[in-house]
Amino acid sequence: MDRPQQNSGLLEAAHNFIFRKGRRAWPLTVIAKRQIAPRMLRVEFSGPDLDELIWTPGQDVVLEIPNGDGVSRRHYTIRLHDSAAKTMAIDFVLHGEGVSGPWLAALKPGDFVTAVGPRGHTYLRPADWHLFTGDETCIPGIFAMLGSLPHNAQGFAFIEVDSDADIVPLQTHAKITWLFRNGAKAGPNSLFYDAVEKFDFPSGAGFAYIIGETNNVRKLRHRLLDRGFPRDRIAAEGYWRPGRVGGHDHV
Ligand SMILES: Cc1cc2nc3c(=O)[nH]c(=O)nc-3n(C[C@H](O)[C@H](O)[C@H](O)COP(=O)(O)OP(=O)(O)OC[C@H]3O[C@@H](n4cnc5c(N)ncnc54)[C@H](O)[C@@H]3O)c2cc1C
Repeated sequence: MDRPQQNSGLLEAAHNFIFRKGRRAWPLTVIAKRQIAPRMLRVEFSGPDLDELIWTPGQDVVLEIPNGDGVSRRHYTIRLHDSAAKTMAIDFVLHGEGVSGPWLAALKPGDFVTAVGPRGHTYLRPADWHLFTGDETCIPGIFAMLGSLPHNAQGFAFIEVDSDADIVPLQTHAKITWLFRNGAKAGPNSLFYDAVEKFDFPSGAGFAYIIGETNNVRKLRHRLLDRGFPRDRIAAEGYWRPGRVGGHDHV
């Protein structure tokens, strides 16, 4: 008599295995990891159903990072995805704190992790020119978007890193300006704010993707609005901020 209930319990368990709050969960296996910059580690994953992953460059997934007691959820951008090979790559900033550091240090081929998504509103919109700002955590997102920038669109990226050793090369027709902290701690600063102050907006319709440390994102977004940038042509998101553990900030 209670079989239908049992079945619905099994169905619910199967659904939770595949979805989290309506978002798909992707089982991933580490296949390789290598350092691509002093503070940037690329991890390549394979997944049995990654050929079904549909995403837009700039979007992220939430990794369920094992922490001993359970999992810690952290946002990471999809840097590369090869549908035919069923692989994806994520570039991790090695900033020296948090659960990601020890997990990444111990990670080896064959290890498992679950990714949930894709999610996020940071992706290319139709425009004559595009403005991107961010720090190291945004290089994967900005590069993924630049990779799909139409040839007839202009792109201008202002990216904050520690020093020129942290520059990650990219073939692109966009203009990338690297900004250096020169040993100062990452966090609230005026590096990309000041750089964008000196940037004359080109003619035509622009779209701004303002991502990175939350205080820096908020300050620049307000300034762009003051300079007459249309509110609905700015995608802004705080990727991290000092003291904040995981998550993201709506700006
Ligand atoms: C949409 C989105 C996409 C993102 N994509 C990427 C990505 O592709 N690659 C990537 O590396 N990160 C990315 N991030 C940022 C990443 O989710 C955060 O940096 C996250 O806090 C990392 O988790 P953690 O375990 O390392 O540190 P947490 O445990 O979350 O934090 C521990 C401490 O470290 C500090 N901290 C966190 N990040 C940094 C940092 N970058 N520099 C200095 N201190 C920091 C925190 O403020 C906190 O005090 C993304 C964030 C969002 C919202």
